[in-house]
Amino acid sequence: MMNRRERFKNIRKVVVKVGTSVLTSGDDLDIGYIQRLAGEIAELRRRGTDIILVSSGAISAGMGQLSLKTRPRSIPQLQAAAAVGQNRLMHNYQVAFEQHGLTIAQILLTADDLKDRQRYLNARNTLLTLWGYGIIPIVNENDSVATEEIRVGDNDSLSAQVANLIDADLLIIMSDIDGLLSGDPRKCPDVSLISTVSEITLQIERFAGKAGREYAIGGMKTKIQAAKIVTSSGEMMVIANGRKDSLIDILEGKQIGTLFLPQGDRMSCRKRWIAFTLEKKGSLIADEGAINAIVGRGKSLLPSGIVDVQGKFKTGEAVGIEDRSGKEIARGLVNYSSDEVKMILGKKSYQIEDILGYCYYEEVIHRDNLVVL
Ligand code: GLU
Repeated sequence: MMNRRERFKNIRKVVVKVGTSVLTSGDDLDIGYIQRLAGEIAELRRRGTDIILVSSGAISAGMGQLSLKTRPRSIPQLQAAAAVGQNRLMHNYQVAFEQHGLTIAQILLTADDLKDRQRYLNARNTLLTLWGYGIIPIVNENDSVATEEIRVGDNDSLSAQVANLIDADLLIIMSDIDGLLSGDPRKCPDVSLISTVSEITLQIERFAGKAGREYAIGGMKTKIQAAKIVTSSGEMMVIANGRKDSLIDILEGKQIGTLFLPQGDRMSCRKRWIAFTLEKKGSLIADEGAINAIVGRGKSLLPSGIVDVQGKFKTGEAVGIEDRSGKEIARGLVNYSSDEVKMILGKKSYQIEDILGYCYYEEVIHRDNLVVL
């Protein structure tokens, strides 16, 4: 198997996510850490690597200002803390990066921004343009306006979305643990660090579920979720310990943290958006012939191959394609609503017009809008 040094040799576009636990010390921002991070990113830029930083820490940075001793539970208080803290966070980044002659830019996103194709492409263009100017974009969730329905929810997932947005070669998640461990260190003393994950199996998910403290704050589970998105898109991800590991060492290919390898070829940017950014609104259950045609021969999904419809969806929304056992094998954008599909399922394409009174498309999901998972 190719070693890390070789794998990382041609990496040019990197998203680095730093978690609140790494950015804070005691109950305030750790300015020393922010300075070290800026220094490492500046060095990587000199070496020709483009970096986007996805930074947490806003809520935490705002708590002190609002005299909150513990993380608030109410949404308005969390949003107020984020609004105050985001500013402090960026101020500290600005001071730290200026010491290296670098300018930073703030991009605040919600899931809603990413789901909307126009806004998605706008965000992509902005990030790429900032890179063109040699600026370091710093991304966070727009916590002060995001409500439950429009949130990404955690910055591990957000960083995977950002990595996909700009086709990053690598996502590095800087956490407060060394990487993925083979169990809970509090329960079994002989746990070891898993250095490479070539496939995210059930066993790997179990390790993540048992990762103790990290898991308790939502940690390892969302990191594995992020790894699934990034590696299924054909890219790599590393989980490392932000407190002690250096970004430079990681990018030089040293054996640090856990490396998740790509699952298959690089997916196009649009297919990533369909498969991992859009919300799945329902499912189409397909027969064996249709599944084989989609998976084996890259065909579209026709009404004749559909046996059942689940959920309620409109034309153009994302749905899963499942086999009869309920396993999702693909995802795509539908040409017909759930009500329409119910009427034409099992029928030949030439019958669509007779049944519906119109036939805009012969396929329920065209292959161009379909991603095999
Ligand atoms: N956006 C949150 C903040 O800046 C952090 C969310 C997360 O760490 O997952 O405080």
